[in-house]
Amino acid sequence: MVKEGVLNEKEALLKVEPKQLDSLLHPQFDPEALKKAPIITTGLNASPGAATGHIVFTAERAAILVKENKWPVVLVREETSPEDIEGMVIAKGVLTARGGMTSHAAVVARGMGTCCVAGASEIHVNAEENYFTLNKKRYNEGDWISLDGSTGRVYGEQIKTIDATISDDFATLMAWADKYRALKIRTNADNPRDARVAYKFGAEGIGLCRTEHMFFDADRIPAVREMIISSTLEQRQVALAKIIPMQKKDFIGLYEEMHGFPVTIRYLDPPLHEFLPTSKEDIEALAKTMGKTYDDLRKTVEYLHETNPMLGHRGVRLLVTYPEIAVMQTTAVIEAAIEVNKRGGSVIPEIMIPIICDQKEFKYVKDIVIKTADEIIKAAGVKLTYSVGTMIEIPRAALLADEIAKEAEFFSFGTNDLTQMTYGFSRDDAGKFLGDYYTKKIFESDPFAHVDTKGVGKLMQMACDLGRAVRPDIKLGICGEHGGDPVSVEFCHNIGLSYVSCSPFRVPLARLAAAHANIKNPR
Ligand code: PEP
Ligand code: MG
Repeated sequence: MVKEGVLNEKEALLKVEPKQLDSLLHPQFDPEALKKAPIITTGLNASPGAATGHIVFTAERAAILVKENKWPVVLVREETSPEDIEGMVIAKGVLTARGGMTSHAAVVARGMGTCCVAGASEIHVNAEENYFTLNKKRYNEGDWISLDGSTGRVYGEQIKTIDATISDDFATLMAWADKYRALKIRTNADNPRDARVAYKFGAEGIGLCRTEHMFFDADRIPAVREMIISSTLEQRQVALAKIIPMQKKDFIGLYEEMHGFPVTIRYLDPPLHEFLPTSKEDIEALAKTMGKTYDDLRKTVEYLHETNPMLGHRGVRLLVTYPEIAVMQTTAVIEAAIEVNKRGGSVIPEIMIPIICDQKEFKYVKDIVIKTADEIIKAAGVKLTYSVGTMIEIPRAALLADEIAKEAEFFSFGTNDLTQMTYGFSRDDAGKFLGDYYTKKIFESDPFAHVDTKGVGKLMQMACDLGRAVRPDIKLGICGEHGGDPVSVEFCHNIGLSYVSCSPFRVPLARLAAAHANIKNPR
């Protein structure tokens, strides 16, 4: 219609809903086949696309059945944790009984571009015996199941899927979106593979690299566990020495994939329940590595168990207790940047400290970061610019943003935690009762999916105003999952953020949503 002169480019852009792009970027069900398929339950539409496959309950069984039977599989779990990553990578889709829009399964699947239905609370999973029950019916390993990650529907049979196809028109539309948007679009990526996908989709940098996610692989997670569980500085140094070469290599990969665009490295923020070993075999293996007895290590794991891990010893709090972790991560960030720049790169790392609630807490870690970084840069005899900023994800940090901005060079809104902590709703469990809020017309939508402009948004606006008053050129962005939600992107545009950051497959949606926002309300 633009070619025919019926619409201008802006009008054409407004005719396409950003969400519609999902169907171009992910496999979909054949519409005819879908009409006859029985819906057996629904959960949250945590990561779009369509998946059909045989049910499996563990990452190990997924690997075996994909390799030996050549089966497409759907991984079904009560909830996921780092141990499930390898299964998630090879599965066509992921179904969980527990968890919300920002739970581990949802965030990780979205990052991979894998279909996910989370928090389907009607299913009861028995992973030991390889079955789940739903409405008195039993579903076993090997049975067919299909998931629609765009609607949250689960079907009890195989359904034909159609692969994603992108035409030249897509590139034209995206080029128009870029012409009319004011917001920059970055990506949340923790490995070079996802960074490459995001760059191809038009990402202009990394807004969030969750460094704890870099250790999800089965051969890496023991080192992080060792670090968390160490009871002495010497033990922790042993674990950190194992981690640092991995970190450095990963950062080099990320910097290279971003071709000079900014890369924000978020320091370790492992909620302990996602990282502590739970199975007997894992505890035994770790005890062996660390030269401890099984009983000793089990006691340590029990001691570290937290009642509210999301409000626990994570993020900056770990760095305050164990400053050597900040030293290790800074060393990796800076050495990797120097190495890439020596080869002709132009990396400007942005170091981001999570979960802060107080200026002194931030300053304590920032001082360690600067001392470590400057020593390395001086010793290398090079020039390297880097910045140190923080996430705003605790209401107190938003309320005291003027004090914090005196020290922090940038803010990035972590709206997953900011939503969790503003509402007091656990991001892992709220899915269980939020349904009642919709049916009883208390809430219109999930605050973990669309930013709550009234409450959470008020804190964001306040933090922007307070931050800018102290540091007029402060860089402001968002890296919570809302950064890929069109309605939330519009809000971020309206409060004047400079960028939104979202998972790789949502980058095109965010580009279009940002164009819509600027066409409706030009900056
Ligand atoms: C957030 O809280 O919004 C965030 C991006 O951090 P994470 O999801 O890793 O807690
Ligand atoms: Mg967070």
